[in-house]
Amino acid sequence: MDKQSQAKKIAELLKQTYNAPKTELHFANEMQLAVAVMLSAQTTDKKVNQVTPDLFSKYPTWEALANADIVELTEAIYGVNFHKGKAERLKKAGQVMLSEFGGELPRTIEELTKIPGVARKSANVILNELWDIAEGIVVDTHVSRVSGRLGLTEETDPKKIEQDLMKLVPREYWRNFSGAMVLHGRYVCTARKPNCAECVLNKVCPSAFTFD
Ligand code: SF4
Repeated sequence: MDKQSQAKKIAELLKQTYNAPKTELHFANEMQLAVAVMLSAQTTDKKVNQVTPDLFSKYPTWEALANADIVELTEAIYGVNFHKGKAERLKKAGQVMLSEFGGELPRTIEELTKIPGVARKSANVILNELWDIAEGIVVDTHVSRVSGRLGLTEETDPKKIEQDLMKLVPREYWRNFSGAMVLHGRYVCTARKPNCAECVLNKVCPSAFTFD
């Protein structure tokens, strides 16, 4: 099977297994999702979900974040990795959201990545989750690892991995593929102990059963 056929098969199998996958971050509106995604860089969703209820009640709007006292904002996200830098970026994000975008999240990667704290991966997640827009493919630590094991890329840089995946996976699968790969990496093809026996991809994966 050539690589493109393999990628399509993988995307199809993932779609059958994870239909309409959603983020595990908790949120009630667009701003909350964007903030949760920003906080989730190099931090588990579980940890983010522990701090966001109080954070959102204290800072319910972009304006509240823009005017936040930086010490108090840092304390509000204590427990999240790199909380000091993230607090600074959240405050700046609030300011940019007001000055550049009138408080409305933009709907392109190019514009979203102008917001402090929003890198390409976060922009992809925001577009996927809020509006089902797939301008690219989400590449986080799970997607990087699983893509390598599946033989879809030999790259280690997330941007290059995304380019490889975008060339191989048909565009109509991108939205589903992103969410499904994150969940698959989190619960099946885990870093330490991939569960190849239970994996729906084990017939199309060159790494299947090579970890014992
Ligand atoms: S077969 Fe194993 S290595 Fe391949 S994707 Fe599934 S769990 Fe990961």
